[in-house]
Amino acid sequence: MRSFLEQLPKAELHVHLEGTLEPELLFELAQRNNIELPYHTVEDVLAAYDFHDLPSFLAIYYRAMDVLRTEADFYNLAHQYFERAAKQNVIYCEPFFDPQAHTIRGVEFDTVINGISKAQEDARKHLGLDSNLIMCFLRDHSAESAAKHLKIAQPHFDKLIGIGLDSDEKDNPPTKFSDTFYAARDAGLKLTMHCDVNQKDIHGHIRECLDVIQVDRIDHGINILEREDLIEDIKARNLGLTICPLSNEFVVQNLTGDEIRRFLDLGIKATVNSDDPAYFRGYMNENLIALAERAAFSREELVQVTRNAFEISWADEQSKTRYLNRLDDYVAEL
Ligand SMILES: [Zn+2]
Repeated sequence: MRSFLEQLPKAELHVHLEGTLEPELLFELAQRNNIELPYHTVEDVLAAYDFHDLPSFLAIYYRAMDVLRTEADFYNLAHQYFERAAKQNVIYCEPFFDPQAHTIRGVEFDTVINGISKAQEDARKHLGLDSNLIMCFLRDHSAESAAKHLKIAQPHFDKLIGIGLDSDEKDNPPTKFSDTFYAARDAGLKLTMHCDVNQKDIHGHIRECLDVIQVDRIDHGINILEREDLIEDIKARNLGLTICPLSNEFVVQNLTGDEIRRFLDLGIKATVNSDDPAYFRGYMNENLIALAERAAFSREELVQVTRNAFEISWADEQSKTRYLNRLDDYVAEL
């Protein structure tokens, strides 16, 4: 099963590039930029990763990002993720990045996106890994800041496939950002938003995503299962969900395997993703293997979540068909 999952051609639709900052690269970039870290060894860093909920995770997460300063830093960050992903037979991905987390530290938007975009080009050429980038807004920042960043991003819209919404969800509902999301949609960008697990007002937030923002996808969305009307709507609209088992385990002490299985039984397109793999200590393969070994997922179920990821991805139709053929060939061969 392990080697079957390792070789499986797969897609990743929910990974924050800032969340792929491994301790080794953290030290390397800190040294390059003369930044003093509160840690001395990789073990110190890992010991600091003792978050138990979303806010405690975010505090450590934003602090580490300070080592990212130059275009080369962002290139290295993205390139390292693409290398790891390609090694795990991820053939397509849609990574997130959070420009506001960098511009508030005085890093130019162009520095961030140009570094990432060059790494994408190189990954396509040299690793055979295709990707489309999603720009996320920090929901605990103002609506004005989101609008301003969409404007700053405008000359780079050709480098983006869509926009998303992440960070601390408490008291930061989707409708806070309606105007920015409508403007992005008008510009031809796809829309997704985080509906994190067990957040305050979560059912209302999911409802707003569906009825007001009219998202193309939902990130997480586990709590949909608690409301019949939400289940029916997600099914009717054929909306995909990007679920992150190892990340959920940190936040709710559970891989949410039962929930993923329920989505599959309902015919809802749930997918498996790594979220912030450097922090939750697992990339795509580790997430799939965790479901197989600790939640008794069958080969068929894991192929289904993989197929779902290609199907709900925002790749062009021709590429999608090519990826799905690769998946089918791989499964048929075995
Ligand atoms: Zn996320």
